[in-house]
Amino acid sequence: MELCVFQGGLHLAPVLKPVATRSLLDEREAFRSALGAWFKKNGKDYPWRRTSDPYAVLVSEVMLQQTQIATVLGRGFYTRFLERFPDVVTLAGAEDDVLLKAWEGLGYYRRARMLRESAKAVIARHGGEFPADPAALLALPGIGRYTVGALLSFAFDKPAPLVDGNVARVLARLFDRADPVDSGPMLKWLWSTAEELLDPDHPRIYNSALMELGQTHCRPGVPDCLSCPVAAFCMAKEPSLLPVKAKRQAIEEIDEHAIYAIHDGKVLLSRQGRGRREGMWRLPVRDKSALSGLKLLHRRKYGITRYRVTLHVHAGHPGHPAVMAAGGDEWIDLEAVDLLVIPPADRAALTAVLGNAEEIA
Ligand code: SF4
Repeated sequence: MELCVFQGGLHLAPVLKPVATRSLLDEREAFRSALGAWFKKNGKDYPWRRTSDPYAVLVSEVMLQQTQIATVLGRGFYTRFLERFPDVVTLAGAEDDVLLKAWEGLGYYRRARMLRESAKAVIARHGGEFPADPAALLALPGIGRYTVGALLSFAFDKPAPLVDGNVARVLARLFDRADPVDSGPMLKWLWSTAEELLDPDHPRIYNSALMELGQTHCRPGVPDCLSCPVAAFCMAKEPSLLPVKAKRQAIEEIDEHAIYAIHDGKVLLSRQGRGRREGMWRLPVRDKSALSGLKLLHRRKYGITRYRVTLHVHAGHPGHPAVMAAGGDEWIDLEAVDLLVIPPADRAALTAVLGNAEEIA
């Protein structure tokens, strides 16, 4: 086997990669069969791969959009959610509080509400049965092109391409394409290439295999090319430098100031109105200028979209103007706090201050 050795990535790690000896486009069948055979032997046994129920597939896809497989599986979110909401009917009828509580820990709660909207639309438009039709699926709330491909191939075993981050990386490397994967022309190329390579006879296996290859061998950073099942077809010269991404938006540092006030066995919390955290409860956030004289109890950093937030929690005492309940604020029994849906950073801060942990990181 002929090998090329090069250095790539931030740490200049040496990467060994067999030289391509076969043409991917001319030998598509051989490529599909090498990939499929590898997957049948090595593919992971995820619960969503054992079902052809489009609802269960959709739940897994929505959960995995912004959450790692290890979290979704290891912490039992997927199984618990399907036990609580086994079908579109139960999900469509879920109250907001119950739905958000079932999603707690997964973050990006908008996904849960959108999932419920999809369930309602499937009932209203399709009598409760997911359609095996790309246009009808794409018309459902919150369902984009990737999810259409996932539903059609994973649930219905219908030939439909899909491109996610893993597939984009694998394709960019297989064809040695250094255009930014998030640019319009490259996205167009990725989707048309995914469609061209797709195995029309075994779309479920093929798409699963391509994604799994991206998670295992063709992973971000330094790939494991020596044991890659399709290395003979791969034209990448320096795979660890691919894919290229357009410049990211800069991270912005911001500060938030919240109060922690206890009175008569109750804690002051604030129910969030419209927006990303709608319906959730937070420590009441105040303008810094309103907090003079209040002691800083706790500080915690968290990230949300492009912001890196430092949450400062101040000890409020009844009588201080900042502790007067504002719109959305309520005094909540301490025993009821566990039942509320609270964003992770606020939950951690609240737990720390309730335990008198005066940690100033
Ligand atoms: S597809 Fe990825 S893992 Fe396989 S040889 Fe190419 S760069 Fe390496």
